[in-house]
Amino acid sequence: MFWWRALMNAVPTNLWLYRRGLRETAECPWGCNAEESLTHLTCSCAKLSTIFEIAANWGFQVPKFNSWNELLDGLRSSADDNPSMGRFYCYIIYQFWRARNDKNHARSCSTPSVIVATVLSMMPRPYSLPAMEQWCTAQPSGLPPDKLWCTPPPNWLKFNVDASIKESAIAGLGVVARDHMGRLLLAAGRHIEQWDVTTAEISAALSIREVATLDMMDYDGIIIEGDCRNAIQWLQAAFHRLHKMHHNIEGPDLTFLLDFKQVLFQFVPRESNQPADFCARMACFGDFLWDGGSVGAIPQTFLSLLRRESDCM
Ligand SMILES: [Zn+2]
Repeated sequence: MFWWRALMNAVPTNLWLYRRGLRETAECPWGCNAEESLTHLTCSCAKLSTIFEIAANWGFQVPKFNSWNELLDGLRSSADDNPSMGRFYCYIIYQFWRARNDKNHARSCSTPSVIVATVLSMMPRPYSLPAMEQWCTAQPSGLPPDKLWCTPPPNWLKFNVDASIKESAIAGLGVVARDHMGRLLLAAGRHIEQWDVTTAEISAALSIREVATLDMMDYDGIIIEGDCRNAIQWLQAAFHRLHKMHHNIEGPDLTFLLDFKQVLFQFVPRESNQPADFCARMACFGDFLWDGGSVGAIPQTFLSLLRRESDCM
Protein backbone atom coordinates (compact mmCIF):
# COMPACT_ATOMS: atom_id res chain seq x y z
CA MET A 1 0.00 0.00 0.00
CA PHE A 2 2.84 2.38 0.87
CA TRP A 3 4.55 1.80 -2.47
CA TRP A 4 1.28 2.16 -4.35
CA ARG A 5 0.82 5.56 -2.70
CA ALA A 6 4.42 6.46 -3.53
CA LEU A 7 3.83 5.67 -7.20
CA MET A 8 0.69 7.86 -7.14
CA ASN A 9 2.72 10.65 -5.48
CA ALA A 10 0.32 10.42 -2.53
CA VAL A 11 2.69 9.77 0.36
CA PRO A 12 2.06 12.51 2.95
CA THR A 13 5.65 13.68 3.31
CA ASN A 14 6.15 17.00 5.07
CA LEU A 15 6.53 18.74 1.69
CA TRP A 16 3.30 17.13 0.46
CA LEU A 17 1.45 18.31 3.60
CA TYR A 18 3.04 21.77 3.51
CA ARG A 19 1.92 22.38 -0.08
CA ARG A 20 -1.65 21.57 0.94
CA GLY A 21 -1.51 23.92 3.91
CA LEU A 22 -1.65 21.01 6.35
CA ARG A 23 1.73 21.61 7.90
CA GLU A 24 3.78 24.66 8.74
CA THR A 25 7.11 23.37 7.64
CA ALA A 26 8.25 21.11 4.81
CA GLU A 27 11.49 20.11 6.53
CA CYS A 28 12.68 16.56 7.01
CA PRO A 29 11.97 15.46 10.62
CA TRP A 30 15.47 13.95 10.93
CA GLY A 31 17.13 17.37 10.89
CA CYS A 32 18.60 17.21 7.39
CA ASN A 33 17.82 20.92 6.76
CA ALA A 34 16.11 19.90 3.55
CA GLU A 35 12.54 19.59 2.37
CA GLU A 36 11.08 16.18 2.90
CA SER A 37 10.08 15.36 -0.66
CA LEU A 38 9.49 11.88 -2.02
CA THR A 39 13.03 11.89 -3.44
CA HIS A 40 14.41 12.93 -0.07
CA LEU A 41 12.46 10.21 1.71
CA THR A 42 13.39 7.42 -0.70
CA CYS A 43 16.88 8.42 -1.88
CA SER A 44 18.72 11.20 -0.15
CA CYS A 45 17.78 11.53 3.54
CA ALA A 46 20.86 11.41 5.79
CA LYS A 47 19.10 8.99 8.12
CA LEU A 48 18.39 6.69 5.19
CA SER A 49 22.07 6.80 4.22
CA THR A 50 22.95 5.59 7.73
CA ILE A 51 20.49 2.73 7.34
CA PHE A 52 22.05 1.73 4.01
CA GLU A 53 25.54 1.94 5.50
CA ILE A 54 24.53 -0.54 8.18
CA ALA A 55 22.96 -2.83 5.59
CA ALA A 56 26.19 -2.67 3.54
CA ASN A 57 28.24 -3.56 6.63
CA TRP A 58 26.16 -6.69 6.93
CA GLY A 59 26.72 -7.57 3.29
CA PHE A 60 23.59 -6.13 1.71
CA GLN A 61 24.75 -3.31 -0.49
CA VAL A 62 22.37 -1.26 -2.61
CA PRO A 63 23.24 1.51 -5.06
CA LYS A 64 22.63 5.17 -4.29
CA PHE A 65 19.96 6.93 -6.34
CA ASN A 66 19.82 10.67 -6.85
CA SER A 67 16.19 11.10 -7.82
CA TRP A 68 12.84 9.38 -7.69
CA ASN A 69 12.99 8.60 -11.43
CA GLU A 70 16.49 7.17 -11.11
CA LEU A 71 15.23 4.96 -8.27
CA LEU A 72 12.33 3.73 -10.42
CA ASP A 73 14.79 2.87 -13.20
CA GLY A 74 16.95 1.02 -10.68
CA LEU A 75 13.98 -0.96 -9.35
CA ARG A 76 12.92 -1.76 -12.90
CA SER A 77 16.30 -3.25 -13.74
CA SER A 78 16.40 -5.04 -10.39
CA ALA A 79 13.06 -6.68 -11.23
CA ASP A 80 14.80 -8.27 -14.21
CA ASP A 81 18.20 -9.11 -12.73
CA ASN A 82 18.04 -9.14 -8.96
CA PRO A 83 14.46 -8.95 -7.61
CA SER A 84 15.40 -9.89 -4.06
CA MET A 85 17.56 -6.80 -3.71
CA GLY A 86 14.83 -4.59 -5.22
CA ARG A 87 12.42 -6.00 -2.67
CA PHE A 88 14.99 -5.39 0.05
CA TYR A 89 15.21 -1.70 -0.98
CA CYS A 90 11.41 -1.33 -0.97
CA TYR A 91 11.12 -2.95 2.47
CA ILE A 92 13.82 -0.65 3.86
CA ILE A 93 11.98 2.44 2.63
CA TYR A 94 8.71 1.23 4.13
CA GLN A 95 10.28 0.50 7.54
CA PHE A 96 12.08 3.84 7.33
CA TRP A 97 8.73 5.54 6.68
CA ARG A 98 7.26 3.85 9.76
CA ALA A 99 10.17 5.01 11.90
CA ARG A 100 9.82 8.49 10.44
CA ASN A 101 6.11 8.56 11.41
CA ASP A 102 7.05 7.59 14.96
CA LYS A 103 9.63 10.37 14.98
CA ASN A 104 7.10 12.87 13.60
CA HIS A 105 4.65 11.99 16.35
CA ALA A 106 7.36 12.11 19.04
CA ARG A 107 7.10 8.38 19.68
CA SER A 108 10.14 6.23 20.22
CA CYS A 109 11.36 5.05 16.84
CA SER A 110 13.48 2.16 15.59
CA THR A 111 17.22 2.68 15.31
CA PRO A 112 18.83 2.13 11.88
CA SER A 113 20.19 -1.27 12.99
CA VAL A 114 16.75 -2.38 14.14
CA ILE A 115 15.25 -1.24 10.84
CA VAL A 116 17.68 -3.31 8.76
CA ALA A 117 17.41 -6.36 11.03
CA THR A 118 13.60 -6.13 10.87
CA VAL A 119 13.69 -5.99 7.09
CA LEU A 120 15.95 -9.05 6.88
CA SER A 121 13.66 -10.96 9.23
CA MET A 122 10.66 -10.01 7.13
CA MET A 123 12.05 -10.92 3.73
CA PRO A 124 9.35 -13.29 2.52
CA ARG A 125 10.25 -16.92 2.40
CA PRO A 126 7.34 -18.42 0.48
CA TYR A 127 8.14 -16.69 -2.80
CA SER A 128 10.39 -18.17 -5.34
CA LEU A 129 12.99 -15.50 -5.69
CA PRO A 130 16.54 -15.80 -6.89
CA ALA A 131 19.18 -15.64 -4.17
CA MET A 132 20.20 -12.20 -3.01
CA GLU A 133 23.17 -10.87 -4.82
CA GLN A 134 24.97 -7.64 -4.37
CA TRP A 135 23.28 -4.90 -6.38
CA CYS A 136 26.24 -2.62 -6.53
CA THR A 137 27.98 -2.63 -9.87
CA ALA A 138 30.76 -0.19 -9.00
CA GLN A 139 32.72 -2.87 -7.11
CA PRO A 140 33.55 -6.01 -9.06
CA SER A 141 33.10 -8.10 -5.91
CA GLY A 142 29.96 -6.23 -4.87
CA LEU A 143 31.29 -5.90 -1.32
CA PRO A 144 32.10 -2.58 0.28
CA PRO A 145 35.61 -1.60 -0.91
CA ASP A 146 37.36 -2.22 2.43
CA LYS A 147 35.73 -5.56 3.17
CA LEU A 148 36.54 -9.20 2.60
CA TRP A 149 33.70 -10.54 4.69
CA CYS A 150 30.63 -8.98 6.31
CA THR A 151 29.29 -9.81 9.75
CA PRO A 152 25.62 -10.75 10.04
CA PRO A 153 23.23 -8.51 12.07
CA PRO A 154 23.18 -8.83 15.88
CA ASN A 155 21.61 -12.09 17.00
CA TRP A 156 22.10 -13.61 13.55
CA LEU A 157 24.57 -16.26 12.47
CA LYS A 158 26.47 -16.57 9.25
CA PHE A 159 27.48 -19.91 7.77
CA ASN A 160 30.11 -19.84 5.05
CA VAL A 161 30.16 -23.06 3.07
CA ASP A 162 32.44 -24.41 0.36
CA ALA A 163 33.42 -27.64 -1.38
CA SER A 164 36.69 -28.83 -2.85
CA ILE A 165 36.90 -31.72 -5.30
CA LYS A 166 39.91 -33.98 -5.76
CA GLU A 167 40.62 -35.94 -8.94
CA SER A 168 39.72 -39.14 -7.12
CA ALA A 169 36.10 -37.91 -6.86
CA ILE A 170 36.58 -37.19 -3.16
CA ALA A 171 34.90 -33.95 -2.19
CA GLY A 172 35.78 -32.05 0.97
CA LEU A 173 32.93 -30.00 2.45
CA GLY A 174 33.67 -27.02 4.68
CA VAL A 175 31.41 -25.04 7.02
CA VAL A 176 32.37 -22.01 9.12
CA ALA A 177 29.85 -20.46 11.54
CA ARG A 178 30.40 -16.97 12.97
CA ASP A 179 28.27 -14.48 14.91
CA HIS A 180 27.74 -10.72 14.50
CA MET A 181 31.03 -9.96 16.26
CA GLY A 182 32.84 -12.15 13.76
CA ARG A 183 33.51 -14.70 16.55
CA LEU A 184 34.02 -18.26 15.43
CA LEU A 185 31.37 -20.63 16.77
CA LEU A 186 32.57 -23.66 14.90
CA ALA A 187 34.31 -24.83 11.77
CA ALA A 188 33.84 -28.29 10.33
CA GLY A 189 34.98 -30.44 7.45
CA ARG A 190 33.69 -33.69 6.11
CA HIS A 191 34.50 -35.71 3.02
CA ILE A 192 32.14 -37.53 0.70
CA GLU A 193 32.37 -39.24 -2.67
CA GLN A 194 31.30 -36.73 -5.26
CA TRP A 195 32.62 -35.47 -8.57
CA ASP A 196 30.05 -32.84 -9.44
CA VAL A 197 30.97 -29.36 -8.20
CA THR A 198 27.46 -27.95 -7.77
CA THR A 199 26.21 -31.07 -5.98
CA ALA A 200 29.22 -30.96 -3.67
CA GLU A 201 28.60 -27.28 -2.92
CA ILE A 202 24.95 -28.04 -2.12
CA SER A 203 26.10 -30.90 0.15
CA ALA A 204 28.41 -28.45 1.92
CA ALA A 205 25.40 -26.29 2.82
CA LEU A 206 23.42 -29.36 3.86
CA SER A 207 26.20 -30.42 6.19
CA ILE A 208 25.12 -27.49 8.40
CA ARG A 209 22.50 -29.95 9.66
CA GLU A 210 25.21 -32.09 11.22
CA VAL A 211 26.98 -29.27 13.02
CA ALA A 212 24.06 -27.01 14.01
CA THR A 213 23.33 -26.96 17.73
CA LEU A 214 19.94 -26.39 19.35
CA ASP A 215 20.80 -22.90 20.59
CA MET A 216 21.42 -21.82 17.00
CA MET A 217 17.65 -22.07 16.41
CA ASP A 218 17.15 -19.24 18.94
CA TYR A 219 18.96 -16.73 16.76
CA ASP A 220 16.81 -14.37 14.68
CA GLY A 221 18.10 -15.92 11.51
CA ILE A 222 20.99 -17.39 9.59
CA ILE A 223 22.71 -16.33 6.40
CA ILE A 224 24.22 -19.10 4.29
CA GLU A 225 27.00 -17.79 2.10
CA GLY A 226 28.71 -19.68 -0.67
CA ASP A 227 30.79 -18.86 -3.74
CA CYS A 228 29.01 -21.22 -6.15
CA ARG A 229 26.19 -19.27 -7.74
CA ASN A 230 24.37 -22.35 -9.08
CA ALA A 231 24.39 -24.09 -5.71
CA ILE A 232 23.15 -21.02 -3.84
CA GLN A 233 20.37 -20.49 -6.38
CA TRP A 234 19.39 -24.15 -6.23
CA LEU A 235 19.24 -24.05 -2.43
CA GLN A 236 17.15 -20.91 -2.41
CA ALA A 237 14.67 -22.27 -4.94
CA ALA A 238 14.40 -25.66 -3.21
CA PHE A 239 13.95 -24.00 0.17
CA HIS A 240 11.12 -21.85 -1.15
CA ARG A 241 9.42 -24.83 -2.78
CA LEU A 242 9.66 -26.64 0.52
CA HIS A 243 7.94 -23.71 2.20
CA LYS A 244 5.15 -23.54 -0.30
CA MET A 245 4.33 -27.21 -0.34
CA HIS A 246 4.95 -28.00 3.32
CA HIS A 247 6.30 -31.41 2.54
CA ASN A 248 9.43 -33.00 1.30
CA ILE A 249 10.56 -32.26 -2.18
CA GLU A 250 12.57 -34.62 -4.27
CA GLY A 251 16.29 -34.51 -3.78
CA PRO A 252 18.30 -33.55 -0.73
CA ASP A 253 16.33 -32.95 2.44
CA LEU A 254 16.27 -29.30 3.51
CA THR A 255 13.60 -29.59 6.20
CA PHE A 256 16.15 -28.93 8.96
CA LEU A 257 16.36 -25.34 7.69
CA LEU A 258 12.74 -24.80 8.74
CA ASP A 259 13.92 -24.94 12.37
CA PHE A 260 15.66 -21.58 11.93
CA LYS A 261 13.60 -18.42 12.30
CA GLN A 262 14.85 -16.97 9.02
CA VAL A 263 17.19 -18.30 6.35
CA LEU A 264 18.79 -16.11 3.69
CA PHE A 265 21.13 -17.33 0.98
CA GLN A 266 23.87 -15.11 -0.38
CA PHE A 267 26.30 -15.57 -3.18
CA VAL A 268 29.73 -14.10 -2.45
CA PRO A 269 32.90 -13.95 -4.49
CA ARG A 270 35.52 -16.58 -3.87
CA GLU A 271 37.95 -14.27 -2.10
CA SER A 272 35.27 -13.67 0.52
CA ASN A 273 34.92 -17.34 1.32
CA GLN A 274 38.50 -18.36 2.13
CA PRO A 275 38.06 -19.88 5.62
CA ALA A 276 35.31 -22.19 4.30
CA ASP A 277 37.52 -23.06 1.32
CA PHE A 278 40.36 -23.90 3.72
CA CYS A 279 38.05 -26.26 5.67
CA ALA A 280 36.86 -27.90 2.45
CA ARG A 281 40.44 -28.59 1.35
CA MET A 282 41.40 -29.89 4.82
CA ALA A 283 38.35 -32.17 4.82
CA CYS A 284 39.69 -34.11 1.81
CA PHE A 285 42.20 -35.61 4.27
CA GLY A 286 39.69 -36.44 7.00
CA ASP A 287 36.67 -35.19 8.91
CA PHE A 288 37.05 -32.65 11.71
CA LEU A 289 35.06 -30.32 13.94
CA TRP A 290 36.68 -27.30 15.55
CA ASP A 291 34.92 -25.61 18.42
CA GLY A 292 35.30 -21.82 18.50
CA GLY A 293 35.59 -22.06 22.29
CA SER A 294 38.86 -24.02 22.16
CA VAL A 295 41.08 -22.25 19.66
CA GLY A 296 44.14 -24.14 20.87
CA ALA A 297 43.13 -27.11 18.75
CA ILE A 298 42.63 -25.06 15.59
CA PRO A 299 45.39 -24.68 12.95
CA GLN A 300 47.09 -21.29 12.96
CA THR A 301 46.68 -20.92 9.18
CA PHE A 302 42.93 -21.09 9.58
CA LEU A 303 42.91 -18.63 12.49
CA SER A 304 44.96 -16.16 10.48
CA LEU A 305 42.47 -16.40 7.60
CA LEU A 306 39.71 -15.51 10.06
CA ARG A 307 41.80 -12.68 11.47
CA ARG A 308 42.46 -11.31 8.00
CA GLU A 309 38.70 -11.10 7.42
CA SER A 310 37.91 -9.54 10.78
CA ASP A 311 40.70 -6.98 10.34
CA CYS A 312 38.68 -5.44 7.56
CA MET A 313 35.32 -5.79 9.26
ZN1 LIG B 1 16.22 13.70 5.92
